[in-house]
Amino acid sequence: MKVSEYFGENVFSRAVMQERLPKKVYAEVMSVVEHGGQISMGSADVVAKAMMEWAIEKGATHYTHWFQPLTGVTAEKHDSFLSAPDENGKEILNLTGKQLIMGEPDASSFPSGGLRSTHYARGYTAWDMTSPAFVKEMACGTILCIPTVFVAYSGEALDNKTPLLRSMQALSQQAVRILHLFGNTQAERVIPSVGAEQEYFIVDREKYLKRRDLIYTGRTLFGAPAPKGQELDDQYFGVIRERVGAFMKDLNKELWKMGITATTQHNEVAPAQHECAPIYCTCNVAVDQNQLMMETMKRVATQHGLVCLLHEKPFAGVNGSGKHNNWSIGTDTGENLLDPGDTPNENLQFLLVLSCIMKAVDVHADLLRQSASCVGNEHRLGGQEAPPAIISICLGDQLESVVDQIVSNADSIQLLASGKLDSGVSTVPVLSRDATDRNRTSPFAFTGNKFEFRMLGSSNSIACANIMLNAAVAQSLKIYADHLECAQDFDGELHLLLRQTIAAHKRIIFNGNGYDDAWIHEATEERGLLNLRTTADAMPTLLKPKNVAMLTGLKVMTAAEIQSRYDITLDNYCKTVNIEGRTMVDMARREILPAVEAYAQSLAAALSAKTAAVPALPCSYEKSRIAKLSTLTDAISSAADELDSILREVHAFDDVTRASCAMRDRVLPQMSRLRAVCDEAETLTARSFWPFPTYDDLLFGLE
Ligand code: ADP
Ligand code: MG
Repeated sequence: MKVSEYFGENVFSRAVMQERLPKKVYAEVMSVVEHGGQISMGSADVVAKAMMEWAIEKGATHYTHWFQPLTGVTAEKHDSFLSAPDENGKEILNLTGKQLIMGEPDASSFPSGGLRSTHYARGYTAWDMTSPAFVKEMACGTILCIPTVFVAYSGEALDNKTPLLRSMQALSQQAVRILHLFGNTQAERVIPSVGAEQEYFIVDREKYLKRRDLIYTGRTLFGAPAPKGQELDDQYFGVIRERVGAFMKDLNKELWKMGITATTQHNEVAPAQHECAPIYCTCNVAVDQNQLMMETMKRVATQHGLVCLLHEKPFAGVNGSGKHNNWSIGTDTGENLLDPGDTPNENLQFLLVLSCIMKAVDVHADLLRQSASCVGNEHRLGGQEAPPAIISICLGDQLESVVDQIVSNADSIQLLASGKLDSGVSTVPVLSRDATDRNRTSPFAFTGNKFEFRMLGSSNSIACANIMLNAAVAQSLKIYADHLECAQDFDGELHLLLRQTIAAHKRIIFNGNGYDDAWIHEATEERGLLNLRTTADAMPTLLKPKNVAMLTGLKVMTAAEIQSRYDITLDNYCKTVNIEGRTMVDMARREILPAVEAYAQSLAAALSAKTAAVPALPCSYEKSRIAKLSTLTDAISSAADELDSILREVHAFDDVTRASCAMRDRVLPQMSRLRAVCDEAETLTARSFWPFPTYDDLLFGLE
């Protein structure tokens, strides 16, 4: 079947609505989507009926309000379309407008960070009409999914979607004010668009199921390196192996059916690592689609006897997985505000937007950093594989030269020559070369007509990063608009503002190598930029008065919502590290120690058999190996005991900030110590005795 025949077939898209809804109702839906407002109950009934009939034709039996609680994953509670039989005993299938618009799942066990107490547990879901409904085909049936926000009885957000939609609204309002100042009165809205590149690992399911660390934590907590890692770079962009290729083919099909434009697929740097990227779309739809993509990857992998690992660092010693959040802003009339055009030096509107982004990223670098916080990501950021934990912007030589000239108040701003790229092969076309090369190490890089925020972890919801980005940029735009709207001399005032803003925030621009230690020194010591290495370091910045003032001022989050997110994230951090620690103690005591002990015993048996046969034999191999293994088992046992006791102690803390610091300072280092002795024991124990699949089994098992 051709792609065009099934692409988007599971989406209740605009085209489907246009075909199935009366003209008036369709117009009402579109008006709410584009301009906001409420849909009338009468129209909601009509949409609900059409949606249900369409879904039933696709084989759906249930519907669900699909939402994103603060667990980072999506939630759904299925209700069948069945309602009480009529007087003839005939089943009636029904979805009312009320059911479409609003739900009240009990859902009281989701983290709320104090926004709802268990005895006042009402939480409501409400239809997000800007993200299309779709059907999802799963083993439990085909389900109509209605994207919704999830809010408490008080109206406060219990989810990621609500503040995301608010941040988009704030950004649009402020950007439109700026456009008006430049004489653009046609554009009614400015919309952020996002394309998220998703990295992941694929491993064999049978092997996965033999490792409790993978099952409980999504990463290997033990494992000596395989003889081969990623040093030959032969996996990167290499030929995709057959089993993985079959998985990718099915994954694409499933994603395409749900209207997700998965477009790029390739092998990534680490063995068993891959990437998938869709074509960008409206920010909130991109967030929904990224969640769906992650979920679909896991589901399709299972169908292929594989497991998709979305953890940021499933394997030590090889690259981990991240997510690149490509972000730009454009008008409803199709203009990309981050497109510099051929002459960015003369494009004042572009320069204004660019300087606003510089200001936003510099002033709220801490917020952006915390938006990418999760335990897994700490193992990546700052390693030589992902950007450092320090936020900086790479503008490239061309734009950096333009902003330098603005700061030095040059009479006319010149562009760098772009030139030609000649490979020296006469049969290969000569290419025109960009004035700017690509920088792979920057956490926030300008890439032509968008910024690429590269700090996110592979398992992160991209909602939080986009909330902070949209809000911080909205805030800078607001400051410009407040100034310029009452300026007597618009041009003069604009030039002055540009010069002042760029000069004040130029410290955030860095085009060099972000992996270099010299940069860490320069950034923190000379430029005063923050290096927030862990979640425990980054999260408290969310509560800084300047950040709270910005988020509450723009009505993106209330103070209580901000506090709730702080509590939930740190609580989750502590719980996650606690599970990792407990898993390690359990595996060390009940799997690794018995295995090493059994192997030592077999050596001892060999030793006594050999010396019984030939008493004079030195048997130095057996003796020294037994001695070494015995030292290691003692070390493993005491390291596990120590970890166990620290975990118990920290678990009793009731202050989440204190607990998160203890996890960072005491638990994680002790986990590393336990791992080191176990990994050493692995290298000295016969393969046949090792209790679970090793790094070479997992990373090269699909060859
Ligand atoms: P690379 O690996 O070179 O960064 P990819 O093609 O893998 O490039 O990913 C680039 C991503 O950026 C894609 O998802 C693409 O759709 C997205 N993108 C392109 N233009 C824009 C834009 N204007 N706004 C947001 N995202 C964009
Ligand atoms: Mg990229």
